[in-house]
Amino acid sequence: MEIRTVGVVGAGQMGSGIAHVLALAGYQVVLSDVSPAALDRALATIERNIERQVSRGRITAEDRAAALARIRTTLALAEVGPCDLVIEAATEREDVKTGIFAGLAPHLGAQTILTSNTSSISITRLASRTDRPERFMGFHFMNPVPVMQLVELIRGIQTSEETFATCLGVVERLGKTAASAEDFPGFIVNRILMPMINEAVYALYEGVGNVRSIDTSLKLGANHPMGPLELADFIGLDTCLAIMNVLHEGLADTKYRPCPLLVKYVEAGWLGRKSDRGFYDYRGATPVPTR
Ligand code: NAD
Repeated sequence: MEIRTVGVVGAGQMGSGIAHVLALAGYQVVLSDVSPAALDRALATIERNIERQVSRGRITAEDRAAALARIRTTLALAEVGPCDLVIEAATEREDVKTGIFAGLAPHLGAQTILTSNTSSISITRLASRTDRPERFMGFHFMNPVPVMQLVELIRGIQTSEETFATCLGVVERLGKTAASAEDFPGFIVNRILMPMINEAVYALYEGVGNVRSIDTSLKLGANHPMGPLELADFIGLDTCLAIMNVLHEGLADTKYRPCPLLVKYVEAGWLGRKSDRGFYDYRGATPVPTR
């Protein structure tokens, strides 16, 4: 099946990036949100980020104009339903997502494929509540979307091969690389990355190293571009904790228990870069370790 129009529901950090890359790749995009302010912010973000690509010589001014002209915004799910593909990227709450799929249901085209960008909610369960579980799958972009090369494509147990192949075609047209994953908590990236970050917090908690020695060790000893604690601050410590809880509960294995020190930082409101303090303090000119 050829995809020409894509509906993106949720115009936050991820939805705006997804609309950006789709429009640049030539898709007609209908970007929707419940909040008019979110739609305005998303368009401003997309314009700013596309402008940066022009100034760096990655795309031309004509590409920018054509891409922006392909994005239409709306508050009405009725305008999203007829798209060939829908990517849901709204707030990470199951009731929000099931509400969106229920709202789309009466407006869907017969062939429309439904997908979710969820990081932690079961694709199989979301799919089972729609009228088309075989045409439903996980379409998991990484943040920031225009920069990150990977998209995880997640099959629910009912997802058809045709649906998978169609979504794979979209990822390829975006110039990104897909990794296929089965529908288990954390998929692949978070299943492996978050326990590593959590283990780094345990090493700090137990005094094996301090913030700087732990980050330096992984950067220079394992060739990671960022240390695990620096990366945790970038992702947001609340997000890291939420994902560890999903792994712990969903896989029912104590090896995924969140480190008490991670819990403590989140309780303190030290969430990383977004709150100016986490494993590093970002209030000065250069980040200073907090332990
Ligand atoms: P965000 O808070 O930046 O944006 C969420 C948007 O959804 C908001 O604009 C909000 O107004 C909108 N929204 C809420 N209810 C809605 C509804 N009923 N209908 C339409 N829009 C609605 O969140 P985000 O970081 O962009 O995350 C979105 C999704 O992407 C989540 O499922 C999250 O798990 C996933 N995700 C996030 C990241 C990340 O690093 N932020 C990475 C991969 C996947």
